[in-house]
Amino acid sequence: MAKVGFVGLGNMGGHMARNLVAAGHELKVFDLVEELMAAIDGAASQSSAQDAASGVDYLISMLPAGKHVMTLYQSIFDSLSEGTLLIDCSTIDAATARNVSQLALERGLAMLDAPVSGGTGGAEAGTLSFMIGGSANDLEKARALFEVMGSNIFHAGDSGAGQIAKACNNMLLAVHMAGTAEALAMGVKNGLDPAVLSEVMKLSSGGNWSLNVYNPYPGVMESVPASRGYEGGFLVDLMTKDLDLAMDTAAQSRSSVPMGALAKSLYRMHEQANDAGGLDFSSIQMLYTSDLIN
Ligand code: NAD
Repeated sequence: MAKVGFVGLGNMGGHMARNLVAAGHELKVFDLVEELMAAIDGAASQSSAQDAASGVDYLISMLPAGKHVMTLYQSIFDSLSEGTLLIDCSTIDAATARNVSQLALERGLAMLDAPVSGGTGGAEAGTLSFMIGGSANDLEKARALFEVMGSNIFHAGDSGAGQIAKACNNMLLAVHMAGTAEALAMGVKNGLDPAVLSEVMKLSSGGNWSLNVYNPYPGVMESVPASRGYEGGFLVDLMTKDLDLAMDTAAQSRSSVPMGALAKSLYRMHEQANDAGGLDFSSIQMLYTSDLIN
């Protein structure tokens, strides 16, 4: 079993760390919030990130944004042992991921960017998808850990490629969620039952993940955020953050992303018009149906 340092025990990291402990790994954990460390039964709470990083085989981070990731690694490089494999699972811009990885390499340390998809439910169940950038050999070294935390482990390419894959995926997710909400609203305004229309489109060429498993129209599908006031799930705040990262990626590569840019504008408009930052991202439905549902 491996010695693992884990930094960042929020909504995602807490579950991931708990699953690693349950699989028998020896964990040293650190978060700025003390209670979050105490909540990981069986892990050793540390008083600093440096302590969590020293003497471990793997150092995993799950932090909010690129600036936190850069600051963390700059502060722990001197505490890491030779051979510790660094794994950042945060969703951040590819440029920062590559820069941190380069700084690690200059110190003889290998690093993987390994952002995830699957939300807090996937983190808790250990069924996340990992999109990994870095060397294939390093991925293989860490495969056993990834397999505890997730069920789909993809090697996207070199350093930064995991973050690019994540940006592409979430831009597409925003586009098909907004498109699904738009089609459902038009159907309802023309007298259709949203449940009937959903069944029609699911089994026709309009079928897509948002419609098939995450229906944004209230009352159509049980156990999705739309049927509990858009509480929980994947927050609009996180979607707008991911769309900002996708737009940065597009600008840096001179990619044309009109659909993604429109989806980003729609999400910003929704966030401001409906004070929706803390709602699930399927609440984009509200933009189209304010006159139909409340
Ligand atoms: P979160 O805000 O719940 O957790 C982040 C944690 O990092 C917090 O507990 C915070 O105290 C801690 N932290 C911040 N700076 C720190 C530092 N310097 N040292 C130690 N701890 C520090 O966020 P989350 O929802 O767990 O998301 C983490 C990452 O995963 C983000 O990049 C997010 O975009 C990504 N992500 C989230 C989801 C989701 O559904 N929540 C899904 C996929 C990806």
